[in-house]
Amino acid sequence: MSPIDPSIGPDRAREVFRAELAEVRTDAELQALRTRWVGRKGSWVAAFMEALATATPEQKKPVGRGANELKKEVEAAIAERETALASTKRPPNAVDITLPGRTPVLGHRHPLSLIRDEVIEIFTRLGYQVLEGPEVEDDYHNFEALNMPAEHPARDMQDTLYLTRPMPAFAPDGASAGQARRSHAPQPRTLLRTHTSAMQIRHMEKHDPPVRLVAIGPVYRRDNLDLTHTPMFHQVEGLVVGKGITLADLKGTLTAMAEALFPSTRAEGARSGQAADFIRFRPSFFPYTEPSAEVDIRCIKCKGSGCAMCKKTGWIEILGSGMVHPAVFEAVGYDADEVTGFAFGMGVERVALLKWGVEDIRLFYENDLRFLEQFGL
Ligand SMILES: [Zn+2]
Repeated sequence: MSPIDPSIGPDRAREVFRAELAEVRTDAELQALRTRWVGRKGSWVAAFMEALATATPEQKKPVGRGANELKKEVEAAIAERETALASTKRPPNAVDITLPGRTPVLGHRHPLSLIRDEVIEIFTRLGYQVLEGPEVEDDYHNFEALNMPAEHPARDMQDTLYLTRPMPAFAPDGASAGQARRSHAPQPRTLLRTHTSAMQIRHMEKHDPPVRLVAIGPVYRRDNLDLTHTPMFHQVEGLVVGKGITLADLKGTLTAMAEALFPSTRAEGARSGQAADFIRFRPSFFPYTEPSAEVDIRCIKCKGSGCAMCKKTGWIEILGSGMVHPAVFEAVGYDADEVTGFAFGMGVERVALLKWGVEDIRLFYENDLRFLEQFGL
């Protein structure tokens, strides 16, 4: 603001003051305006009164009155504006409702939970029971009852994490019917389950056929952490037992599951006129199934033409399966002449890696939100 010229008369000064007052927005601006117009030194009033001292006696009276009136008017207007400004001030600690809101961060389900939920949905639709079992298992349920006797290579110390002492749950009182039937050692060796197949045994020991179940949960191996291995991962186990269950039931069920889990690959097969070429069953070996089959689907990445991911074969293995071995039925007291069944085991991480093209399994366990937020709610 320029200095006020004291030579302008009270009427012109009033106009200038009104215009300046209209621009005032804050307390500080209002105080500055007060000093400028009615302050003791250097203000318009002070300068005007000074100039008045040299005026003729005839001039003094009317001009002095006009200046006094303007001074009062200025003070009243400033006081009024002061009150108006105070009324718009928010009280201490008040919430400023004019600030933009803070949006709470939405949580996401973990990608492995998404796969688990998807698998559970597929199988509950097919009338399966969903089970969870203990992660600490005994040697009997994890190996022996699954047709893996003491010398079987799958029981190698390299693969299994044994516990130094039996858990209380496996003390003689907690011994299961299967163990009692086989009059097992009172305290069998305990371990972290290497597969969810142990749940098959626990369920069949307590329930008569028919059986139709899926069990999902963590399993443990003596593996080092790298791109494709972790010492803990998740497995989906499926078991169907009843009269007249055949390999055709196994194929139908697993094809339906693979189609539901990998719809894009399935659709690609349909477009290329190779729908039947979407999935294949390859002979394999597991101690607890006979015959056994590994299941491959067309490579997600190259759609079958061959790439690094599928090692130029055009196929990607997704699970192991087979018809339940009679020795397993014998272990749980089922009559292998009466019932047959099929079982399968699939890695949850493997499905997630394939489905979303994730190249490092460790990303699933690092809790990095930049990764986890990419998988929908
Ligand atoms: Zn490929």
